[in-house]
Amino acid sequence: IVALHDVHKSFGTFEVLKGIDIEVMKGEVVCIIGPSGSGKSTLIRTINGLTPVSKGSVKVEGIEVHDAKLDKLALRRKVGIVFQQYNLFPHRTVLENVMMAPLLVLKENRSEVEARARTLLEKVKLRDKEDAYPAELSGGQQQRVAIARSLCMRPDVMLFDEVTAALDPETVKEVLMTIKDLATDGMTCMLVTHEMGFAREISDRVYFTDAGRIVESGPPAQIFDAPQDPRTQEFLSKVL
Ligand code: ATP
Ligand code: MG
Repeated sequence: IVALHDVHKSFGTFEVLKGIDIEVMKGEVVCIIGPSGSGKSTLIRTINGLTPVSKGSVKVEGIEVHDAKLDKLALRRKVGIVFQQYNLFPHRTVLENVMMAPLLVLKENRSEVEARARTLLEKVKLRDKEDAYPAELSGGQQQRVAIARSLCMRPDVMLFDEVTAALDPETVKEVLMTIKDLATDGMTCMLVTHEMGFAREISDRVYFTDAGRIVESGPPAQIFDAPQDPRTQEFLSKVL
């Protein structure tokens, strides 16, 4: 459902991605781990077209993301992304935040969107907070609203870039549980995470990136218990 082939990205003369190949099948959960600055965020942002590539191909459901003629709206609908910063609209309630994109961007029918938004809030266990404003919620709750908001566009793939990095340790778990539920329901997910225990538990495959390259990939047991490359070994020895 997602295929990156020989993806390069430079900022000026600095090459951040140096030929990335990744393939993700429908329903798979893939984690990307690696040191700070290795290009993980840049990589994930090429998948929904936020960051243009310098060379190579990124396809979602067979459609080239970086084709100039591509319907950006269709891509935004297909690929959901959640960041460390949740960026909810402060003057809108939880329910309104979740409903906003399908209403304004896709011009969908209000009652349908509202029903869907409520179902999603139920799923992220925030149905009782639908009339609250973002400032009245904890960080973890706000992040779950951000996830529901993304899901309300009915994406085929969800991208998560260090969504728990800004949270208190107690609230990290509830957000990870939400992602786990999604994965269990069969959503295709790509996550950048520093939560190694979670990556190990949830992934079908783990990619280790360093300096703009995929150094090693494989099932979590292989990457975490028997990493082959010295760079993977060194990284894991620091973080595990
Ligand atoms: P972290 O774990 O700290 O989030 P990362 O693996 O996500 O790191 P990226 O954010 O992808 O790393 O950044 C990779 C490199 O690209 C960094 O050296 C960064 O400074 C550089 N970079 C990222 N975005 C830009 C940009 N818009 N302009 C110039 N350089 C950039
Ligand atoms: Mg990053």
